[in-house]
Amino acid sequence: MNISVIGSGFSGLSAAAYLAKKGHKVSVYEKNETIGGRARMFTQDGFMFDMGPSWYWMPEVFEKFFKDHGSSVNEHYDLVRLDPSYQVFFEDEKLEIPADYESLLMVFEKLEKGGADKLNRFLQSAKLKYDAAMTGPVKLPGMSFTELFQPKIVKSALHLKLTQSFSEYVRKQFNSSKIHQLLEFPILFLGSSPTKIPALYSMLNYADMKLGTWYPMGGMYKIIEGFERVVKSYGVDFHTSAPVEAITVNAGNANALKLQNDTIATDLIVAGADYHHVERNLLPSDLWQYTDKYWDSRDMAPSAIIMYLGVKGQIPGLLHHNLFFDEPYQAHLDTINIIKDWPENPLFYVSNPSKTDPSVAPAGYENLFVLIPTTPGLLNEYDNLKEHYLKIVVGRIKKQTGVDISDRIVVKKFFMPNDFVNDYNAFKGNAYGLANTLMQTHFLKPRMKHKKINNLFFTGQLTVPGPGVPPTILSGEIVASLINNN
Ligand SMILES: Cc1cc2nc3c(=O)[nH]c(=O)nc-3n(C[C@H](O)[C@H](O)[C@H](O)COP(=O)(O)OP(=O)(O)OC[C@H]3O[C@@H](n4cnc5c(N)ncnc54)[C@H](O)[C@@H]3O)c2cc1C
Repeated sequence: MNISVIGSGFSGLSAAAYLAKKGHKVSVYEKNETIGGRARMFTQDGFMFDMGPSWYWMPEVFEKFFKDHGSSVNEHYDLVRLDPSYQVFFEDEKLEIPADYESLLMVFEKLEKGGADKLNRFLQSAKLKYDAAMTGPVKLPGMSFTELFQPKIVKSALHLKLTQSFSEYVRKQFNSSKIHQLLEFPILFLGSSPTKIPALYSMLNYADMKLGTWYPMGGMYKIIEGFERVVKSYGVDFHTSAPVEAITVNAGNANALKLQNDTIATDLIVAGADYHHVERNLLPSDLWQYTDKYWDSRDMAPSAIIMYLGVKGQIPGLLHHNLFFDEPYQAHLDTINIIKDWPENPLFYVSNPSKTDPSVAPAGYENLFVLIPTTPGLLNEYDNLKEHYLKIVVGRIKKQTGVDISDRIVVKKFFMPNDFVNDYNAFKGNAYGLANTLMQTHFLKPRMKHKKINNLFFTGQLTVPGPGVPPTILSGEIVASLINNN
């Protein structure tokens, strides 16, 4: 079959690889000049900035992808485990999260009497959830509820704590507010308010604290380059600067993609671009599956203000990954989730990959990526918004590390919520798709196979299994097996 893949993010690349492996003739169409989607990069004045993901978690998912295609991670990049994994700045102290588990237990014991035993119990249960999810639901296409009726899944469902909120679950087991924040941070950045996310997602804490935080030397874009090599080895064509403008459909079958100056006949389409955009902008309205009401009621993951900064000199107090939780935590959550405004005293994250990898900045300079989670759908900037937040970030870095970078910034680029719309056609400017709420999990997510068009399939962070690099790699594999087994 001739298969067209729309979008070259992780999901599109993964789908292209698995489909081409089965012998299909696959072509990838990407609107931007370069491939990688949210995981693109840019270079400027000797700096290499990864534009999106910076946390490399669940290394076995990457290894499996390469192995499935006769290769291995080592053939594409050197993977190093970070130690400490990351640090958190609280108002009154700084905490380093060691890679070594025994040392981590000591950190928890110091934060709360009995914290080590509690963490052991918490992570034992998190492992059960992780294993249950990875061997079952994460690999299923979510076509219907009945998919989950497998003895192994039903048995493990008892451990999943589907109805309890993550926030409640964590608070039942730990008293320390610092521990609450430590355990909730992956939810805050990748999901939504911990009060809306099921306890099931403590599996992310297992990924963090047991499986570790890793880094591909050369930057996260090395992974995209590895994927590109694999996909090209099957003879897949890439078309960049090629936005798809419409999908033409005849009698329930998609038969062509319309580009600006061309129409491409196709036997089947896999859309890895944002789901809402494909459905609403590329299809005629009589073929929409979901109503405005449906989309408006979706709980989107946060958007973000991102800064890419090249800084002269060193910043000794920073590690590779740094969480600035030195302002009231709940206030930021409430502002972005309930009040839906720009956060006044934001929590933010700083990645400083030049701490590990000298290749991403010129000698004597630091490479900083700053991310402030914001309300999805809040797209209109007020005057001076960017500089306002830069000033806050610079002030907080100075407060926590004693280093003033205000006069040392030699490269400065912002990526704002509106850029997610312009660059990726992202619904409400979402950075990470749909929030992982219970009502948006598995078969309750937008469907992988279009209800009214036989040969239109979806992959990526708005469908199963969800947002994040490992899930979107799996999403590409799942959609390919759905097609290959159809
Ligand atoms: C700032 C940021 C930080 C993140 N940090 C992490 C992290 O540390 N770790 C982690 O695991 N995950 C992280 N994530 C999440 C992860 O990056 C994403 O879930 C994943 O990369 C999404 O892949 P995707 O294929 O679903 O979508 P995308 O990467 O968005 O790919 C979709 C592609 O479709 C293209 N497209 C859109 N419309 C069209 C059209 N009409 N025609 C042709 N092409 C089109 C887009 O240009 C894009 O290239 C982060 C995301 C962001 C934004």
